[in-house]
Amino acid sequence: MKLENDPLAAYWMPFTANRAFKTSPRQLVRAKDMHYTSSEGRSILDATSGLWCSNAGHCRAPIVEAIQRTAAELDYAPCFQLGHPLAFELASQIAALMPEGLDRVFFTNSGSESVDTALKIALACQRARGQGTRTRLIGRERGYHGVGFGGISVGGIVSNRRQFGTLLTGVDHLPHTHSPEHNAFTRGRPKWGGHLAEDLERIVGLHGAETIAAVIVEPMAGSTGVLVPPVGYLEKLREICTRHGILLIFDEVITAYGRIGGPTAAQTLGVTPDIITMAKGLTNAAVPMGAVAVSRAVHDAIVEGAPEGIELFHGYTYSGHPLAAAAGLATLALYKAEGLFNRAAELNDYWENAVHSLKGKRHIIDVRNLGIVAGIELEPRAGAPGKRATELFHKCFDNGLLIRATADIVALSPPLILEKAHIDEMVGRIAELVETID
Ligand code: PLP
Repeated sequence: MKLENDPLAAYWMPFTANRAFKTSPRQLVRAKDMHYTSSEGRSILDATSGLWCSNAGHCRAPIVEAIQRTAAELDYAPCFQLGHPLAFELASQIAALMPEGLDRVFFTNSGSESVDTALKIALACQRARGQGTRTRLIGRERGYHGVGFGGISVGGIVSNRRQFGTLLTGVDHLPHTHSPEHNAFTRGRPKWGGHLAEDLERIVGLHGAETIAAVIVEPMAGSTGVLVPPVGYLEKLREICTRHGILLIFDEVITAYGRIGGPTAAQTLGVTPDIITMAKGLTNAAVPMGAVAVSRAVHDAIVEGAPEGIELFHGYTYSGHPLAAAAGLATLALYKAEGLFNRAAELNDYWENAVHSLKGKRHIIDVRNLGIVAGIELEPRAGAPGKRATELFHKCFDNGLLIRATADIVALSPPLILEKAHIDEMVGRIAELVETID
């Protein structure tokens, strides 16, 4: 085959405006701690932990060494009917970090796979309990649960769905909790909106509890613009789910591993689901890996109740891959050694004051924060939604700061190793550059 002249042509980039990117490419070639280096050699402060995933900062020596060592020792081991010690050790350590009772762990390779795995486990559990009519899955508007067919079905982002047909049937959605008219510029958790969880009662009334297997929500919705759970909201969901025999799944692909403090949002926010999905920060993103932690009750319903043989017909060639397991173990050790799950509490006031100092700057109509996360919402430009935040993203990148823009919302989620001076630099640069865009 004849090679095209354009070296960027072959790579069909994910969730990217490919044509625009390839006329004006921006590439990263190196990373260390809080910074990337661009292909032009510019140092770029990472205010997004890559894609919400390099929570301990980049290219950390203990993780790099663990991966290198394992690659030379055990590059791969089949995970169906065979095991290797690193995967068992990592599962035990994850179980020890999870909320009380969620002590069985299934490995995947990404957040999307974790979500589809969790949905399948929920269905299998209901069936094993003799509740096979419970096949309905409930998500939430503006939820992001990755890109598998299950994830986009329960997800609440129409653009992620409309190209792909009917998807899973028997899905319904709770309303989202974003309400700038009530909650703009709230620091931490909004007081208004807890009652929105009661919509689950309406859905139960509409379909019948006996048809509903599970509800899945992000405790804090990240990808659709940092939607912080209102006070009482998650507690109410938990209560309704328990009362109706519905399993509650927290998608913690973003929130687990210190992002809002503690190992999980469930612990920080004091609400325990039946199933937790995770990925990203589990290995500091150094090797792809996801996992699903399930309650003993859910696990035992499926495993202990099964006839002899395979209990769950599900798994991936790379579930618990040795390199990922090694990276996960080194990452968990680093989180512990450096106290990174405490950073959200330690930096909360400084972070909150800094990001809220953006109130009053040009175009900014809302700022919200939880843990080491902030959402900065810009007023959309008339007739061109999303353009303003994209322009700010480009300007920041060209001026040495990596932010994340979705629609007209800028999300910040820097590595947990950040210092106050980094916060000043991030917020200072945004304050300056947002004034320069139309
Ligand atoms: N679930 C949530 C809450 C996410 O934020 C993401 C990714 O951002 C995913 C699932 C999908 O993860 P992945 O891109 O690793 O498939």
